[in-house]
Amino acid sequence: MSTVQRAALVFSDLDGSLLDHHSYRFDAALPAIEALQAANIPLILVSSKTRAEIMALREELANTHPFISENGAAVYIPVNYFATMPPAATQREGYWVYSTCPPRSHWVALLQQLEPEFPGSFDYFSRAGVDGIMQMTGLDEHRAAQANARDYSEPVRWLADEETKQRFVQRLEQAGASVQRGGRFMSVCADASKGRALLWLRERYQENHPAAVIHDLAVGDAENDRQMLEAAGSALLVRSPVHGFVSLSRAEPAFYSESFGPAGWAEGVLQWLENNGFTRKGS
Ligand SMILES: [Mg+2]
Repeated sequence: MSTVQRAALVFSDLDGSLLDHHSYRFDAALPAIEALQAANIPLILVSSKTRAEIMALREELANTHPFISENGAAVYIPVNYFATMPPAATQREGYWVYSTCPPRSHWVALLQQLEPEFPGSFDYFSRAGVDGIMQMTGLDEHRAAQANARDYSEPVRWLADEETKQRFVQRLEQAGASVQRGGRFMSVCADASKGRALLWLRERYQENHPAAVIHDLAVGDAENDRQMLEAAGSALLVRSPVHGFVSLSRAEPAFYSESFGPAGWAEGVLQWLENNGFTRKGS
């Protein structure tokens, strides 16, 4: 008897979703992480964080799957994870890396150009250095260095008024930058998108499992997750302690968690597993 093969993927944001907004802990999500492992469902980490930051967390989670860094700027696939390297990727330090974005140096040069026009109005990581980043973020030295190890984007901290900020953002956008506004910083980068990265990576899974019907779930809490939440077959919006739910225009309904952060993550992921029959019976 031939059966339709099913494959499942979970794409998850980190800050405010899998990680607690305040403590950056993920303990409350562990039951659902373990359920995904038991069901052999890849958990793909998708974040504005850097490759180094995500790799550190991936190790803590014993996660061996691809991941997406810097808001979708790059997709990292462990070498030999698929049968062949995707044609558009390049091999680097144990990964097949796919990106369509210009490097960080491009954006740093642009910020340097804008400094005379906006004196004292902004600071950015590459000028602040690790000490400055520690001061700006409260991260310890090791984590500040990880946050500074960026490949495709430059975090900017705005120090002046809102009106000037709008003019600044406009100038960046005129120069081809896309400005992603996060909590404390804006990130200057190319027009990357977690949603496009998700679609690209999902296609790679499909190529490698041509007979399978892929069910994917995207999990996120903020505006920079919107495209990813629209692109996936299922969407889980994690309740945030600091802002409302993102508004989506997807046709299929989305799941809105009751709990905040990682507890809401576990709540929604376990529900999705059950709704789709991915939970092992008896376990
Ligand atoms: Mg988030």
